Amino acid sequence: MNTVNVETPGGSYPIHIAAGRLDSLEQSIPDDATSIALVSNPTVAALYADRAKRALAKTGKRLVYIELPDGEAYKDWQTLNLIFDGLLQSRCDRKTVLVALGGGVIGDMVGFAASCYMRGVRFVQVPTTLLAQVDSSVGGKTAVNHPLGKNMIGAFYQPIAVEIDPDVLRTLPSREVSAGLAEVIKYGCIIDAPFFDWCEQNVAALRALDHDAVAYAIKRSCELKAYVVSQDERESGLRAILNFGHTFGHAIEAGLGYGHWLHGEAVGCGMAQAAELSAKVAGLDELGVARVRDLVHAIGCPVTPPNLGTDHWIELMQVDKKTEGGTLRFILLPEIGKAVFQSAPLDVLRQVLHSTAVP
Ligand code: NAD
Ligand code: MG
Repeated sequence: MNTVNVETPGGSYPIHIAAGRLDSLEQSIPDDATSIALVSNPTVAALYADRAKRALAKTGKRLVYIELPDGEAYKDWQTLNLIFDGLLQSRCDRKTVLVALGGGVIGDMVGFAASCYMRGVRFVQVPTTLLAQVDSSVGGKTAVNHPLGKNMIGAFYQPIAVEIDPDVLRTLPSREVSAGLAEVIKYGCIIDAPFFDWCEQNVAALRALDHDAVAYAIKRSCELKAYVVSQDERESGLRAILNFGHTFGHAIEAGLGYGHWLHGEAVGCGMAQAAELSAKVAGLDELGVARVRDLVHAIGCPVTPPNLGTDHWIELMQVDKKTEGGTLRFILLPEIGKAVFQSAPLDVLRQVLHSTAVP
């Protein structure tokens, strides 16, 4: 088993990564817990809830199961309330431990519910998508969507453990695998050039979910995310580099309507665009641009952005949370493995949007 430790002002906790970890979830439940509330959705539950329940039952503690409907469309306040309904109906108390079994949607919702149920109870992340295993389950950002904005209602709230079983990825649709790989290669781009090289060399193994390759990619991604959030839990500085590719990506998601492209697909394409912009204003060489674009393509994500129209692109990017006072700021790469936060002149941005929007 691999263990990565996360240390933040808001809490320190282990990430355990091991094939079959799903069958040992009892190890993540503290002795003083009074009961356990497992939260999942029908898709994930049909595949894995029995195993999770069997493992958690080994604690001898009372186990409550709460099911939420599946999908980003249900990551909202009304559905969040179903968790509180379940917890209160089952008389869960301040020592109940919540367990989130699912992708980023379940993880974000259960984390947020844990942050405010009885003013805060402990929770464990059991991420079952690649994106959740390498990104959303680590670092303590929790939220639900509001009709006027994605992830707008939430809290920073750290789990007490993250339990990762890479074997569960075998049932994940391959599009979801590619979308998760986008966040994996993102870490190479922004902070770890040797890891970027490694991803280039192992891309076929990663897409085929080769056991060792996937386990290493998850471990390295978690180490890098743990490092970044330990420096800056609440995104007042360094943590912003995790948004590489996301300003373009969010514009794609919003411009096409959420759900047309998966988040990771939009981020993949956005990283290729951000690499081009980096060449114009941050010093990335042409080889670097080509390597980012080729790797995004190799993991199975789109590299040709949708044609949203240059003005609409810019409008969409301006609503991004990273905008300050109307100036567009981007995470850019002076070289692969290094990220800077800087603004780009509008005319240069227009050139990039124009050149990348035409195949
Ligand atoms: P998701 O949770 O919607 O999961 C994708 C689909 O795969 C769902 O239908 C799910 O039921 C299904 N699924 C999950 N595990 C499966 C498995 N092992 N086998 C088969 N099917 C499985 O999507 P996601 O990509 O995991 O997460 C996206 C969410 O994560 C977004 O809401 C995003 O805002 C959030 N997010 C949060 C953070 C953070 O730091 N908190 C970071 C990135 C993304
Ligand atoms: Mg992301």
